[in-house]
Amino acid sequence: MNKLYRNNRVTKEELLVDETIYSQANGFLGTRGTFIEGYGEDFEYNQTYLNGFYDKYNYFYEENLFGFPQMGQKLVNLIDGQKIIFLVEGIPLNINNCEVISLIREYDLEKGLTIRKIHYRTKQNYEFILTERKLVSTKIKELIAVEVLLESINYNGTITVKSYLEESIKKHLENDPRLYGGENQSLNIVGISKKDSFITVKTLRSNLIVHTKMIHNTLFKTSVVNQKIIAEKEYLISPKKGIKLDKYLIYTSSLYHENYLKKSEEISKKVAEISFEKLIEKQKNYYNDFWKKLEIKIPNNKYLELLINYNIYQLNSSGGESEYHNISAKGLSGEGYEGHYFWDTEIYMIPFFILTNPLKARNLLMYRFHTMEQARVEARNLGYDKGVKFPWRTINGEEASPYYPAGSAQFHINSDIAYTIIKYFEATNDLDFIIRYGFEMLVETARFLKEAVNFNGQYYHLNGVTGPDEYTTVVDDNYYTNQLLKYHFEYVETLYGKYTQELSEVIKKIKLIEDEVLCFKEIAKKIYLPFDENLNIFIQDASFLNKKKLDLTKIPSNKFPLLMHFHPLFLYKHQVLKQADTMLSMMLLDYDNEKILNDSFDYYESITTHDSSLSKCVYSILAFKLKKYDLANDFFENVLETDLLNSQKNTSHGLHVANMGGSYIGFVYGIVGLRIKENYLVLNPLSTEKISSYELNVQYKGKNVNIIAEKKLIITTKETVKLKVYGKEIKLNGRYQTTLKKTTVFNFSKK
Ligand code: BGC
Repeated sequence: MNKLYRNNRVTKEELLVDETIYSQANGFLGTRGTFIEGYGEDFEYNQTYLNGFYDKYNYFYEENLFGFPQMGQKLVNLIDGQKIIFLVEGIPLNINNCEVISLIREYDLEKGLTIRKIHYRTKQNYEFILTERKLVSTKIKELIAVEVLLESINYNGTITVKSYLEESIKKHLENDPRLYGGENQSLNIVGISKKDSFITVKTLRSNLIVHTKMIHNTLFKTSVVNQKIIAEKEYLISPKKGIKLDKYLIYTSSLYHENYLKKSEEISKKVAEISFEKLIEKQKNYYNDFWKKLEIKIPNNKYLELLINYNIYQLNSSGGESEYHNISAKGLSGEGYEGHYFWDTEIYMIPFFILTNPLKARNLLMYRFHTMEQARVEARNLGYDKGVKFPWRTINGEEASPYYPAGSAQFHINSDIAYTIIKYFEATNDLDFIIRYGFEMLVETARFLKEAVNFNGQYYHLNGVTGPDEYTTVVDDNYYTNQLLKYHFEYVETLYGKYTQELSEVIKKIKLIEDEVLCFKEIAKKIYLPFDENLNIFIQDASFLNKKKLDLTKIPSNKFPLLMHFHPLFLYKHQVLKQADTMLSMMLLDYDNEKILNDSFDYYESITTHDSSLSKCVYSILAFKLKKYDLANDFFENVLETDLLNSQKNTSHGLHVANMGGSYIGFVYGIVGLRIKENYLVLNPLSTEKISSYELNVQYKGKNVNIIAEKKLIITTKETVKLKVYGKEIKLNGRYQTTLKKTTVFNFSKK
């Protein structure tokens, strides 16, 4: 169980995708699954990142209009230490110089370790097997450890081993808007030591420092050549005697450590006393605990079981460890979207943490709290003198979106954050969080939106905004935005009414008066929600139905994602969706008029490309709810396989972490039928043909709920938990058993 194998994948595309798949992280530090010996090809580009370690760069606009962000932000690729070259008669062993007889790659999710075994044959017919085991430590967060074993099959002689610490510079540039398109390097080397094998670098503009130290378990001769540290040693190798060495890389930074040099020294000492096996032992202990709580068991479908557990494993590794950093769209696994944090965190990732590790959910929400000042500045920048506007994409809390139609215009980010604060509170009862941080965020985000709406005598309208779907921008009355605003504003009033006493201090601090709360209530009541009587659907925005439909069946598959082949204006003029929009709000708010839900689903599903990986999980959950089981299963499987099959065609840029969260909610909301409510946890578990038995644990109000679906549905708690199972309210302390609902597959097939 829980081992992911992908063997003999050696084309460029396969290698770049598998670097992502075999990436490892611990929430702070992450690195890709590149080969330690390199490829000897120009696409070789090792990447290691520290969460939040970024630099700024200047944006250049031909027409630099007022209020545009002037500086971009990007996660910086750190000094790389993951190169060890093995020279056989002067020629490096790698895929460029050798034939690959076999390649076995394993992700051991139980131990938190990757293993790679490659069998090379050189042009001189020498054969070698190189085994690499690598981990990013969960125990010592600053540490990457690699163990290499080189075995000779038929070569007797010397091998020179060269181990590097150097800057990794990208040689192949891609023209893809989902990647960073600017200057390559962002680091100045400010310290380099041959004796102590370290390189210290400082970013050009954000003035952050990272110190990288390399340690080997055996003595090397070290030199500094062109700002690289090269450690070198000659070995005698024969079929009887291989070469084994361990390499440790320690990353400390001014971002995390008061004294990064001292910290590095401390860790070096610790590392000198720990063997690689011991590190594995510790890593295994961490994952033992992790899986005990979090494993999703699907006994009748081991394939899907592996996929879903892989996805939650990677999601968990991507962040949530600190209040000052968030989770980027690609986690710490690649350079896609420049390492920016988006709404992806609140809407797609945090639900997993709320239900499994609420402390991490709290940390992620606290990151928003700590960046309120930047959000206040952005609100003023956008022309409003009240409240805060959270950035569409950022690392340091400032808006970094140079293309405002699909960026800053997404005002829904404010209510997305509010929505998640509410769900967090409903699931945890963490009133302390609400009193100290949550309520203030709810009110300040609402204040900004309150300034932005306009009353025309009958309704409040929110014009000139972009909803989640990025193929439709700057529109009036986006249904999703307005509907979430309504929910958000209503909740401010609810909390204000219910906890007036507890909230009195913050109410004073933020100068909230009753009239303002009543105004929120009034807006919530009268916010315009576009609806079409004939089609019986909610309309994505006020003018959406006036647009031409795009016949997606006539577009060849190599023209997807459309954003790579069509001018945005062409897409904006059509009824075509990149991702779930209206349907997402219906999913989040658990909309329950079945007829409208069904008609809306059918309408939007037929015009959605799912060019964003944030889409299918939403359709899957709703399709389960609407009993369109074939379709629901198809979508669900696609979600689970997104990165493994490279279905968005850009897994090489990094993992689709929101989609990984989507695979969790796809399962938990879609199949388990779970919904977080204030007074009880709703469960409507299904048994499907593909997933007929399963087991999982979720947290609700600080208590563990164990759910087993087999022949029967069995729910167990050790403390009293209020549940609503198949519509029946129960207070459970112990074991509850009932008949498990089985789905019948209708023949709704996906077009
Ligand atoms: C999606 C956004 C998402 C971003 C980062 C884009 O393709 O349209 O909704 O936030 O990717 O994942």
